[in-house]
Amino acid sequence: MKNDDLDFDKKHIWHPYTSMTHPLPTYPVVSAHGYELILRDGRRLIDGMSSWWAAIHGYNHPIINQVMHAQINRMSHVMFGGIVHPPAVELCRRLVNTMPTGLECVFLADSGSVAVEIAIKMALQYWQARGNPRYEILALRKGYHGDTYGAMAVSDPENSMHNMYQNYLPSNRFLNSPTRRFEENWQKGDETSFSQFFSQHHKKIAAVIMEPIVQGVGGMRFYHPEYLRLTRMLCNQYEILFIADEIATGFGRTGKWLACNYADVTPDILCLGKALTGGMMTLSATLTFRHIAETISNSKAGCFMHGPTFMANPLACAAANASLSLLENDSWYQHVEKISTYLSVGLAPLISHPKVRDIRVLGAIGVVEIVQEVNISQIQHWFVENGVWIRPFKNLIYLTPPYIISKEALMKLINAIAMSLDQPENFISS
Ligand SMILES: *Cc1c(COP(=O)(O)O)cnc(C)c1O
Repeated sequence: MKNDDLDFDKKHIWHPYTSMTHPLPTYPVVSAHGYELILRDGRRLIDGMSSWWAAIHGYNHPIINQVMHAQINRMSHVMFGGIVHPPAVELCRRLVNTMPTGLECVFLADSGSVAVEIAIKMALQYWQARGNPRYEILALRKGYHGDTYGAMAVSDPENSMHNMYQNYLPSNRFLNSPTRRFEENWQKGDETSFSQFFSQHHKKIAAVIMEPIVQGVGGMRFYHPEYLRLTRMLCNQYEILFIADEIATGFGRTGKWLACNYADVTPDILCLGKALTGGMMTLSATLTFRHIAETISNSKAGCFMHGPTFMANPLACAAANASLSLLENDSWYQHVEKISTYLSVGLAPLISHPKVRDIRVLGAIGVVEIVQEVNISQIQHWFVENGVWIRPFKNLIYLTPPYIISKEALMKLINAIAMSLDQPENFISS
């Protein structure tokens, strides 16, 4: 990559949530290997992000690469209308076998946001098919479910700037974000607001959607599993569908295979994405029960109304199969547990730092909540100068490292965060 390319990038290419007139700096990455990103000048950065929860086996994993090469040589893509292929069957079989019992009808799509759109559409079609249409989804404040319209409409109204798209977004209902933290003791009375809301509004609600345990983009908050159990119970009581968005949390990140496992609940509809392909390709899956799929299919519409061009892309399915097979063989649980311990031990002392408001760790997720917002371009530069790739947002510096990271590399990430706190220019003075 030449300087010319960087100029072109600045001038012509949008980046996530970034201004086109005053873009944040971008760093040219020319390759990546294991837990390292390699810059064009040869510098190697330790990856603390897994490319947003996705690259759980690190980059360029030889086995995943090999499986993908083999699939390219057979076919990278073929339409899914009227056609089925081995990678899709293998993947859906794996998902049906490893996800909670009963979630046996699988819809494969392109990305996490689309998986959420599909889940919402399934819920709406389900109620329509029952001759009792319901038009609202119940979601949590501080939730995040993606950037497309349906997903945005169930994400936190303030974070997702609902007012920017007023009159175009469907209106939904929001419950206050859970306040009881993951590790706290559940108190009598914590359930009151949830229960009251359900009893008042249930007749209009088609489904509840939640990120189980971890509210990611909305603040990296870890809430008490009892909220999930309670939601499951209320959904049963009032016959509301329960959609679990495990796009970030699925495949072991929180220390359980699914975050729902912390509460022993099974959702009616489950959304998976991000780490599904080990971060190699974009792919998502929405799983549901047979009775829901059958209700939808036995309606006047006769089918579920969705079918993306790249549905069940064989190359993406092959990557997912390789990733899932590694997770089967390679005891992910022990890796995540080790990372969890190192994160806990390494980050805990930072709580006494005046810049730090809170430290929390769950599975292979470590969060340092700061008392003020970070100066993103400055702190990013500082991290790169110090050999690590960490991308904070707002007042949150967090780590979601690849499961294969070494203890030494993880310690370097933690040390970099510790040192970054002593550089005043890394933060926006309030
Ligand atoms: C990332 C994410 C999404 C959206 O997935 P995309 O692949 O970015 O569309 C949805 N829900 C949650 C919980 C996520 O973390």
